[in-house]
Amino acid sequence: MIKINQIHKSYITGQNSLHVLKGIDLEIEAGEMISIMGASGSGKSTLLNILGILDSYDSGEYSLDGLKINRLSERKAARLRNKMLGFVFQSFNLVSFKNAMENVALPLYYQDVPRKKRNLIAMEYLERMGLTEWAHHLPNELSGGQKQRVAIARALIGKPKVILADEPTGALDSVTSSEVMDILQEVNATGITVIIVTHEHDIAMRTRKTIRITDGNITEIIIN
Ligand code: ADP
Ligand code: MG
Repeated sequence: MIKINQIHKSYITGQNSLHVLKGIDLEIEAGEMISIMGASGSGKSTLLNILGILDSYDSGEYSLDGLKINRLSERKAARLRNKMLGFVFQSFNLVSFKNAMENVALPLYYQDVPRKKRNLIAMEYLERMGLTEWAHHLPNELSGGQKQRVAIARALIGKPKVILADEPTGALDSVTSSEVMDILQEVNATGITVIIVTHEHDIAMRTRKTIRITDGNITEIIIN
């Protein structure tokens, strides 16, 4: 599903260049559930953003589902993201003035699905997350765990092949984190590839494979 070869990435700010990814090789099969662990600043988010076609890389190769990803126009990148990828973030990234149902439906709005239809589909996904009763609540009326379940429903509504989650439990207590991991495991059981960035050992242990990044290099691959 995902194949990267000798990916390098530097950030240039003013006169300074920071070499963040130093030749990453990684192969992720369709249907895998993996975690990426490493200290803060080791390049985890940078790698995930490249995998999510949210950021570019300087050299190397990336292919997603057999497609070479290199210097795509923003339009092409957006189309591919909509078709292939779902994103989950630590801070949920919900739209604060839209209710849970509208947040989940948002990707379908961008695909020009009419309002009634997209809301109906959003309700199905909210039901799967056990959130039917919360559909008409705004994000600030939801708990952290509920917000993350809304975000997962939103990530799933476009029928992605891959879910990319950057510290999805980073803002949650351990019980809620475990519930979110239950959901991500269920998502993976439906055949969707799941990639989770985390710095929590307990979370990583719930994935099948853990890739450790140290200072921009993959230093360890652990089968859990
Ligand atoms: P992690 O997610 O592992 O904590 P990141 O991938 O976010 O690490 O960041 C790796 C390094 O790159 C850090 O030193 C960070 O400060 C730097 N960095 C991240 N994004 C940018 C950016 N847009 N511009 C400049 N430096 C950045
Ligand atoms: Mg990060």
